Amino acid sequence: MLLHQGSGYRIKDDYVEIMGGVRLRIIGWDRRYDCYPSGEARLTYKDGKMVLWVSKRIPKPKSYTPRDVIGVDVNEEKIVYGDESINVEKSTGISRTERFKVLAELLQKKYSSPRYPAWKKRRGILSRIRYYHEKAKNILVDNARKVALEIVTTAKRLGYAVAREDLTGLKESLRKLTKTYRTRLLLMGYSRIEKWIDWQALKHGVPRVVVDARNTSSECPKCDFTGLEEVGYRRLKCPRCGFEADRDEIGKLNVRKRALKMLKLSGGALTPPTAAPQMTDVAPNRWGEPPSPRGGTLAL
Ligand SMILES: [Zn+2]
Repeated sequence: MLLHQGSGYRIKDDYVEIMGGVRLRIIGWDRRYDCYPSGEARLTYKDGKMVLWVSKRIPKPKSYTPRDVIGVDVNEEKIVYGDESINVEKSTGISRTERFKVLAELLQKKYSSPRYPAWKKRRGILSRIRYYHEKAKNILVDNARKVALEIVTTAKRLGYAVAREDLTGLKESLRKLTKTYRTRLLLMGYSRIEKWIDWQALKHGVPRVVVDARNTSSECPKCDFTGLEEVGYRRLKCPRCGFEADRDEIGKLNVRKRALKMLKLSGGALTPPTAAPQMTDVAPNRWGEPPSPRGGTLAL
């Protein structure tokens, strides 16, 4: 069924109104296209799900030749980005999801006995548990979107490219682990970070490079020696040239170094990190929380 925006369908808050008086609650959508106007839409029904396919017109952005690279390093807790003089640290949001995980587990425990997991049978409890899981997921997704935008706008302002690691290997190793709630969240978080960096770069016309992630935290960003030695908590030192920095910072510098090579750029010469101005920002993100499900779905 083909629908025209305004006369055939209308999106209002968390609902889609289809002409004829049908109101459907939105359970999810691809946020990447939010800022573009909606065009015609097609409504389909498959496997018990109604899907509204909305068309969007996206102008092609102008790109530029980068003069340097912003490297991005991602680990469980932090997203670190910058070059030799810029070092910004952002939270991945994973620690902020803990609260909802705990709430969901408490609820499961409360309504379970060893013989009878009552929570599985009661729809109200089940939907509340789902809601907590959804909340945790939204924290990671929103965080990824916000940090990706910040990285890309920084690169654009400086006329730099953005380089991220190929996290496929990391995701593969996570998939092999037991499917705990945390590993599942992490996997999702990593995918979202990759996706949003790529998308924001494309949208803003910022050149983007994906580099091999192998040894980014054990190679010396200055002299390429592999086998950095630990000299303190998360602090590494090169036994060959004496270069010393935090593990995350080394990751970031190696990502940048590899991207410079791929782009055939020379970049600035590496100066000791102590001589460079440091910018650190680990403040939790203050980005508004996503719209929460309303109405009957939450009632117990
Ligand atoms: Zn070295």
